[in-house]
Amino acid sequence: MIVLGIETSCDETAAGIVRRDADGAGTVLSNVVRAQLEDHAPYGGVVPEIAARAHVALLDRVVAEAVSQAGIPLADIDAVAATTGPGLVGGLMVGAMTGKAIAFAAGKPFVAVNHLEAHALTARLTDHVAFPYLLLLVSGGHTQILAVRGVGDYERWGTTIDDALGEAFDKTAKLLGLGHPGGPAVERAAASGDATRFTLPRPLIGRAGLDFSFAGLKTAVRLAAERAAPLSPADVADLCASFQATVAGIVAARARDALVRFRAETGVAEPVLVVAGGVAANGAIRSALQAAAAQAGGTFVAPPLALCGDNGVMVAWAGAERMALGLEDGLDVPVRARWPLDQRAVPVVGHGR
Ligand code: ATP
Ligand code: MG
Ligand code: FE
Repeated sequence: MIVLGIETSCDETAAGIVRRDADGAGTVLSNVVRAQLEDHAPYGGVVPEIAARAHVALLDRVVAEAVSQAGIPLADIDAVAATTGPGLVGGLMVGAMTGKAIAFAAGKPFVAVNHLEAHALTARLTDHVAFPYLLLLVSGGHTQILAVRGVGDYERWGTTIDDALGEAFDKTAKLLGLGHPGGPAVERAAASGDATRFTLPRPLIGRAGLDFSFAGLKTAVRLAAERAAPLSPADVADLCASFQATVAGIVAARARDALVRFRAETGVAEPVLVVAGGVAANGAIRSALQAAAAQAGGTFVAPPLALCGDNGVMVAWAGAERMALGLEDGLDVPVRARWPLDQRAVPVVGHGR
């Protein structure tokens, strides 16, 4: 089955095409992502109205490129998937309307995809990971630990009680004058920094449960920056390295605890820990999770960097997984600004491969 996926929930205008074979194996046929960085740069963050207008301006061309890169006629596509939530409503409407229009014109089914489900299922495309697995979702808007039992079957075990991890990276970068998006900028600066120079708090770590908190950490970075002011580039590098090492330690500690619970609840002897979302691109976080999984007797899977941030491939894949279970949607399906992953609006089906 070949599926076209469209992603417009935030500030990436993206389309991708994947093939899913009957045995569940996946192949990426094309991946086109246009980040709207310059459009939002003057404002230091994503402006919803600007994002929606940019999606309108860019999406037709992005979809056309995805189709031509895949080298197949549109007629060979079996279904069209688009992100219908959660995210910025204006952008979601642009992507959903475009996806529905293409599906209608081509006489193909439409699949409404939850953006978080698309992040969550990417590891099944790239690494053919079988259910159940443990997911650490770390992105611009979310920081969650979920047990993934099947398509549409997610149980949330932990979440952030304040900022998302990507947001913490972005705010730290802004504070240090590193620009937006902050994650890659902090990681670049951290590369030459001393991670042991600043001791930062690890909120909630050591306490029971699997929740996260990053707001206090952000404040601690601000106070440390104020004490060290005026900041030299070396100070900035040390602060970034200290921040990055601290959050890597936090997610690794939670991942270890979650793997213990996962093994106890599922009986799976060698559990798989999957990381997903934009922050999954971070090298320090990937190695900390790799080590945590090894310590807990599990294996670690991270998507390739190109599929960590928002993209159309993950939407196409989630669409293909849902199509394989007969889960297509009507053209009247609405977009949803808020849409928790553990409340998929469909019956729970699809365990095993
Ligand atoms: P959500 O998926 O929760 O709806 P989103 O789609 O905006 O939010 P993503 O695009 O998945 O989020 O991820 C973007 C986030 O990832 C940003 O906060 C960005 O700073 C962060 N990020 C990207 N690359 C890195 C990196 N190398 N290190 C740390 N953070 C990173
Ligand atoms: Mg983005
Ligand atoms: Fe995302």
